[in-house]
Amino acid sequence: MDLDKPDPKLVIRNIGLVLSGKLEQPILDADCVVVIGKRIAAVGSARDLDTEDATTLIDAMGCTLAPGLIDSHVHPVIGDYTPRQQQMNWIDSTLHGGVTTMISAGEVHMPGRPKDIVGLKAQAIAAQRWYENFRPSGVKVHAGAPIIEQGMVEQDFKDLADAGVTLLGEVGLGSVKDGPTAKTMVAWARKYGLQSTIHTGGPSIPGSGLISAEVVLEADTDVVGHINGGHSALPDDQIICICDGCLRGLEIVHNGNERAALLTLNTTREMGKLDQVILGTDGPAGSGVQPLGILRMVAMLSALGNLPAEQAFCLATGNTARMRKLDTGMIEPGYAADFVLMDQAQHAPGASILDSVQLGNLPGVGMTIIDGVVTSQRSRNTPPAGRIPVVVRG
Ligand SMILES: [Zn+2]
Repeated sequence: MDLDKPDPKLVIRNIGLVLSGKLEQPILDADCVVVIGKRIAAVGSARDLDTEDATTLIDAMGCTLAPGLIDSHVHPVIGDYTPRQQQMNWIDSTLHGGVTTMISAGEVHMPGRPKDIVGLKAQAIAAQRWYENFRPSGVKVHAGAPIIEQGMVEQDFKDLADAGVTLLGEVGLGSVKDGPTAKTMVAWARKYGLQSTIHTGGPSIPGSGLISAEVVLEADTDVVGHINGGHSALPDDQIICICDGCLRGLEIVHNGNERAALLTLNTTREMGKLDQVILGTDGPAGSGVQPLGILRMVAMLSALGNLPAEQAFCLATGNTARMRKLDTGMIEPGYAADFVLMDQAQHAPGASILDSVQLGNLPGVGMTIIDGVVTSQRSRNTPPAGRIPVVVRG
């Protein structure tokens, strides 16, 4: 760090609508955000904020600013390449869908993935490092998520934690598929600070297995991975049982069963547990990669689930941040300056961007910002936004 040089200052002014990411107050009364360095310094009305001497000045042109979207469930392997569908630049494409943070549910598509214990630990440590050292197009990829196998002992989880690993991949994709073993290992993982998730529902591909509600609840992972199946969902009564019995993250994915997604939304809403619902894509997978997957989930849940769009965005931002203990996903001083700027898509029906999303339309992404730095401008993937932000200086 250059100690003589002050942190860069980013000012975004003329924002039409600020979405906070927080369910308790999804819309903020603000038109300006000030960022110092990589963090939000102030949010409010431009006339009340210190907007002088910005290193970078952005005129939002009336666009909507939201926290950068978080994909709670991805399967990266290496860099911006996935062997699953032989696809390059899928993370960059997803950035163009407004996603600025991704969380690995296991690097399971690595050809020849090691299943012996020392091998799976080595791969997890390596994956954690290469995504820490390299952010594809700026996207924060939290990876290095080992798949637990029979025979692991407590020391293995301590070794992983000591080496910098912070996640477990989907429980159930390896040889541990029974409740008691999963529960023991998940508890060891938690003891050493590793966050866990589980594969819920029928097998995803040949080789994976069925994980029932009973196993999900016994394993007690931090996140119930794809509660709506990946792709085969559990029977309705088991989904309702998980919603009822679980106090942790309930994750709905794009590559799952849409009907089960709506059942989860309606059930959690009735139970007053909407704050536990988080969104992921579960891509890359057999269903491909979904650059717009999170936006599609927001629009689908809003439209078919009758959820106000500003609340639907919270499921993809602040809810995930809270469940995953991230310093992003909310528009609040101190949080990472990760933003997506959007507008109603050209010729999309609706009286406003929120109305348009609740009618099932995708917004147009005009810009993404990660750690206070512009990472993309007009999206090459969303329908074109009516208005796009302009970099006035910087
Ligand atoms: Zn899965």
